[in-house]
Amino acid sequence: MSNTPEAPEKGKDFIRTLIDKDIETGKYNGRVHTRFPPEPNGYLHIGHAKSICLNFGLARDYAGKCNLRFDDTNPVKEDTEYVDSIREDVQWLGFEWDNNFYASDYFEKLYLIAELFIKMGKAYVDHQTAEEIRENRGTLKQPGVNSPYRDRSAEENLSLFRSMRAGEMQDGECILRGKIDMAAANVMLRDPALYRIKHATHHRTGDAWCIYPMYDFTHGLSDAIEGITHSICTLEFENNRPLYNWCVETLMEGLRQPELFGENEAVYSELATLPGFNQRPYQYEFARLNISGTVLSKRKLIQLVQEGHVSGWDDPRMPTISGFRRRGYTPESIRDFCEKIGVAKAAGTTVEYALLEHCVRQDLNERAPRYLGVMDPVKLVIENYPEGQVDEFSMPLHPEDETYGERIVPFSRELWIERADFMEEPPKKFFRMGPGREVRLRFAYYVTCTGYDTDENGTIVEIRATYDPETKGGWSKDGRKVKGTMHWVSAPHALKAEVRNYSNLFTCENPNAPEEGKTFVDYVDPHSLEVRDECWVEPALGEMAPGTNFQFERTGYFCADSKDHKPGEKPVFNRTATLRDSWAKIQKNSK
Ligand code: ATP
Ligand code: MG
Repeated sequence: MSNTPEAPEKGKDFIRTLIDKDIETGKYNGRVHTRFPPEPNGYLHIGHAKSICLNFGLARDYAGKCNLRFDDTNPVKEDTEYVDSIREDVQWLGFEWDNNFYASDYFEKLYLIAELFIKMGKAYVDHQTAEEIRENRGTLKQPGVNSPYRDRSAEENLSLFRSMRAGEMQDGECILRGKIDMAAANVMLRDPALYRIKHATHHRTGDAWCIYPMYDFTHGLSDAIEGITHSICTLEFENNRPLYNWCVETLMEGLRQPELFGENEAVYSELATLPGFNQRPYQYEFARLNISGTVLSKRKLIQLVQEGHVSGWDDPRMPTISGFRRRGYTPESIRDFCEKIGVAKAAGTTVEYALLEHCVRQDLNERAPRYLGVMDPVKLVIENYPEGQVDEFSMPLHPEDETYGERIVPFSRELWIERADFMEEPPKKFFRMGPGREVRLRFAYYVTCTGYDTDENGTIVEIRATYDPETKGGWSKDGRKVKGTMHWVSAPHALKAEVRNYSNLFTCENPNAPEEGKTFVDYVDPHSLEVRDECWVEPALGEMAPGTNFQFERTGYFCADSKDHKPGEKPVFNRTATLRDSWAKIQKNSK
């Protein structure tokens, strides 16, 4: 696990506590083997990051292993585009899998396991319609009714199952069901579907199969085949746990009956030697992550993409890992976030989005180089600064870390400053520029406003000032103090840039709980992207590589867009976060 980040200091969560116990009792001979099992039917979101940090983090902390396993049993919704994006996102987060497997790697084995279940009398082919099956399942209060096909002989079931595989039946004509208990209190155990017919092309196996195994059957058996020890999933699978156990235990039982193996003896004998069938995996559930102000469900995210509410899966407003990456979030900040929220057994409360922003601010405050950029420009002319003269100021790229070095920032007679840094009639508490007021231009000079021009609408078009050459570098030798410091860029040297400011994609705190008659997309804020395409920024930014993080002083953290920013062309920057830390404020107020 070369690429894996250092283990952070932490208290033990309940999963680590139980792993410690398993190590103590020698349950797996000290082995810890986890897996992260996404279905490749969409891009990963920040909820998946929690699961990734947990599963890969356990492998790291216990010198164990973690597999990336694609749970690809639903050919209609899955695609290699998603496979590729998931691999990229896991690696970007800083984790390296020990093995990359696919449930589809096991289709042949799973099929033979199903045959074994049939031979054991633990599975049967049911010809009831989907509706009949639903009706006969019963309810929480009422037991189910046995299928009229439940007592078919093993031979008949085997022959039917083989013709399912051979493509001799239509979609929906029948299914293979586990024969468990139609009166079980847990509805999951009322003869669950194990295989269904689906004449569809699979992104990896093509048209080799027209029957596909169901999630519950596939999951536990894949874990066992891979020798997973701790199979960690989210709480909504708690009810599936008995079924997980039934699948694994039924197979273990079947592998002890060689008289059933028949012509496939070699496959079954090999399975019987795998560590997963001697030291079987167990499933544990933890609380899934919910974040305020957004949705974390691939089904909803795919809708946002397909209906064009966002520009794609990596739209910087999306709560996807690729969206956060494009927005300028760092892997460190997301890992830090997952660390801070921890892992709990009980369904948790919703985590404030502000905490995530806090994590990225903290990280970028330490690591992002600083630059000057004017977002809403107005011209400032320094009347007593000689025309044609240029000062070149050497400015530190990071205020607290000299190793970042410096860059040269040109200063000339005509500058751009922020419109919001000037007021015609400034109130007392406004420490920026106003008529007659002296302010500091960061790292450059003190300047005093001498006048301004407006157009016929009263909009300020130009501000005039004089500078004091004795204040070069932004400090006065006579100890004269000014209250305001402003950023600026030299107009003839500046580059015009496009800046994309993002706010919450949704207008409400919980789009998952829409008012009656509405759906979550009704809360999409069409103004959540603000494009400013007339910003002026210092020349050093023109050659910046796509994806680079930086700070515009006094404005926020930004990054060069990974798709639209091209060195040498008009720069395109995404605002990652403003400088205001609302999380720190929430914390302070709650004390
Ligand atoms: P979605 O509902 O978004 O489709 P999913 O659970 O169906 O999510 P999978 O691809 O099956 O997505 O998930 C892979 C792993 O990530 C699973 O172990 C799942 O439990 C975990 N996971 C998914 N969403 C979250 C979440 N919000 N918080 C923590 N873990 C999650
Ligand atoms: Mg799923």
